[in-house]
Amino acid sequence: MSVKESSNTSTTVCCYCGVGCGIVVNKERNGTVTVVGDQEHPVNKGMLCSKGLNLQYTVNDKSDRLLYPQMRYNKSMPMQQVSWDEALDRTAAVFKTFIDKYGPDSVAFYASGQCLTEEYYVVNKLMKGFIGSNNLDTNSRLCMSSAVAAYKIALGEDSVPICYDDIELADCFFIAGGNPAWCHPILWRRVEAHKAANPNVKIIVVDPRITDTCAIADLHLPINPGTDITLNHAIGRLLIENGDIDIDFITNHAEGFEQYSAIVFERTLAESAQICGLSESSIQQAAKYIGDAKGFITMWTMGLNQSAIGVNKNLSLINLNLITGHIGKPGSGPFSLTGQPNAMGGREVGGLANLLPAHRELSNPVHREEVQKFWGGSIIQPKPGLTATEMFEALNDGRLKGIWIMCTNPLTSLPNVRLAEEALKKAKFVVVQEISNKPETLAYADVILPAAAWAEKEGTMTNSERRISYLNKIIEPPGEALPDSEIICRFARKMGYKGFDFENAAAIYAEHVKLTAKTTIDISGLSHAVIKENKTVQWPYKKKGRPGGTSRLFIDKAFYTPSKKARISAVPDTLTSERPDDDYPFILTTGRIRDQWHTMSKTGKVNKLNQHYKQAFVEIHPADAARLQINETDIVTISSRRGEVRVQAKLSAQIKRGVVFLPMHWGKILNNDLNRANNITNDLVDPISKEPDFKYCAVNVKRYQKP
Ligand code: SF4
Repeated sequence: MSVKESSNTSTTVCCYCGVGCGIVVNKERNGTVTVVGDQEHPVNKGMLCSKGLNLQYTVNDKSDRLLYPQMRYNKSMPMQQVSWDEALDRTAAVFKTFIDKYGPDSVAFYASGQCLTEEYYVVNKLMKGFIGSNNLDTNSRLCMSSAVAAYKIALGEDSVPICYDDIELADCFFIAGGNPAWCHPILWRRVEAHKAANPNVKIIVVDPRITDTCAIADLHLPINPGTDITLNHAIGRLLIENGDIDIDFITNHAEGFEQYSAIVFERTLAESAQICGLSESSIQQAAKYIGDAKGFITMWTMGLNQSAIGVNKNLSLINLNLITGHIGKPGSGPFSLTGQPNAMGGREVGGLANLLPAHRELSNPVHREEVQKFWGGSIIQPKPGLTATEMFEALNDGRLKGIWIMCTNPLTSLPNVRLAEEALKKAKFVVVQEISNKPETLAYADVILPAAAWAEKEGTMTNSERRISYLNKIIEPPGEALPDSEIICRFARKMGYKGFDFENAAAIYAEHVKLTAKTTIDISGLSHAVIKENKTVQWPYKKKGRPGGTSRLFIDKAFYTPSKKARISAVPDTLTSERPDDDYPFILTTGRIRDQWHTMSKTGKVNKLNQHYKQAFVEIHPADAARLQINETDIVTISSRRGEVRVQAKLSAQIKRGVVFLPMHWGKILNNDLNRANNITNDLVDPISKEPDFKYCAVNVKRYQKP
């Protein structure tokens, strides 16, 4: 039955992970909403995971919502309710003063992969096109930037080649550094169903922990943390030795194979197995499954991305698709699973410190000129702006004076988070644009701007498979809260800039669409109306193109590099992370749990979701725990060179000895910040992607004894 949009029933998309499930929202007479999965949405066909199913509670519970703008003239004063004009006039005056006195690079916007595409577009236009600085970055830097950089190197552009429908066409999956059973559940259900219907489909899972994803694995490789490149190279070598490579593809559509071949033969299988902590036979088995496959998909997320060598880890994995020719054909390809709901849409509009709209490059003078002419603003600077962690470093050393934090909670999510706290203490001016009165950032704000939440504004998002969906505005925002794009446009007008008087989100989208014409993400056939009519579409979506857009890229084997050939990269396997030593003998890895999302500002409001894990914990192997005289539920202190965490012990033989795991969701609760994993993580970043090393640092673990 077709979902009939009415005043009470609307369709939208889940605001959590990058799977991008369709949702039908019903508005009840009392103004509350209920949600069900959209049976007609091609992504989820009616299914929702625990987080999506409980979205209604986050919408209906308005008890923590920010309702009106607030402001104070110094940080010792309490916040006062003010009008939108007062808040934005003051903010514009302070920004103008900083820009006049210290230059445009003295201010920055730190946004979020949860922003809608239209919101990303206007803030990017404001910062790069009018303020004249590239200091716009987002929390997608913490999540996807290594995959973005690797795609650019390997394929010539940040372009996910495949689509979800390829899942049912593949017969081998290699899942590295991800737990999609918990973090991309609906996508994973498709893999499970495919495996159940086709038992010969092979699933290889690479993870130092035995996760729920391993439940259907034919082969689990419990790799030593940080050794993915060594493993991928060892598999590459075996594929070459076994003759399981695609010579035609390598010869005609790729470059770099000779250097690659030389580097993967530098280590013997025995050496690689020893480094990875795996048996030789298990690596041989993985190579055999891949070599036998007719359709081969590599999938990965944060285990590869959030690393000081994240780009190289990505490249070493993409190499496996390239040397076997498993790309640009049904059922095959490298597939980075997006963490956030609209990290992809943000990149479409150039919403990172090194990008311009439609995947244009800041470093390219032609690209800068095209965008500058189109926007009609100030000169676009060639120098990349400050990335997420760099912004907080720059606040600490005084280069940056003002920061505007939009829809993200850096005081829980940034690595080595005490540096970020110090930074916000030192900042001369902090604007926080938020829906909730809970985030710790509010304590440092000079101006607080209440934003509309999911279901309270319209716009678009793009999921992991380049699929663009429209989100309806279903209910009014509470109090005086406004959509993020409206807030940014009002501010831009206060700054005196032209080109921010959009009638609505559709008009913003129309402008974004124009900038994509003749680029690789060309969506020149698209508008809000067309998306609504088609339900969802995948980019590129050209005028007179295929209805529904483009499901698969590189079918013609013409990659986006200058030579049109894919690049096979001979990356070194040297780990640059902080290594364990006598003082800090354990390796810490951090990650998500099934029922929470990011820093819990939404999912933490839902009782049902809080039942999965009621509090933060550290997962430790029973043998390590026994040596340290730690029992289940004991309170333990996990310390690093940067700080400490104190949480309950969870003994589990599903994690490797010498490794401990902390969930990343918990922040400061009632002045207690000892649940916060990022007290101890390392702010080391990948030199190319600038993505932090959340998955590897040295820690010590001790049973806590009350003083
Ligand atoms: Fe939402 Fe992701 Fe769950 Fe789908 S899988 S319902 S997009 S959280």
